[in-house]
Amino acid sequence: MDSPRPARERIPISPEIMKTSKFTPGGFRLAVKRASAGRGLFALESIPKGACIIEYTGPALTEEEWLNARNRYLFKVTEKKTIDGWNKENTARYINHSCRPNCEIEIRKGRVFVMAKRAIKPGEELAYYYGKEYFDQHIKPIGCKCLKCMLAARVKAR
Ligand SMILES: [Zn+2]
Repeated sequence: MDSPRPARERIPISPEIMKTSKFTPGGFRLAVKRASAGRGLFALESIPKGACIIEYTGPALTEEEWLNARNRYLFKVTEKKTIDGWNKENTARYINHSCRPNCEIEIRKGRVFVMAKRAIKPGEELAYYYGKEYFDQHIKPIGCKCLKCMLAARVKAR
């Protein structure tokens, strides 16, 4: 007697798996080089829109450590969590601010990911918007050196 064929097994794609893969850095070749604002992180190859480029990593600070921390690489993830990005492994710390960025930040389960906001060409500098608070405190006083602002300044000077 034929054994009954099992109904074709349907394996649903777990939404969890899809999300995990979305937030797995794509291993794109990147390099730290001189940029208009000191050093910056550049793409050495094309990066498609929406791709996860790199994770911003570092130890999470306690509130007390946060109050005493003096470096500029503090990334406020939530009201309660701040990551100290001042460490060697965190290449993402080289990504500069831009007022017209090609990257954007996505926060997933308390982790910080840099995503491609649009398709990025080889040789382009990566940048994301640092947020109004950071901009007003740290960038505005010295003048923004992002591509958009540098071009605007050059047009004005003509
Ligand atoms: Zn700017």
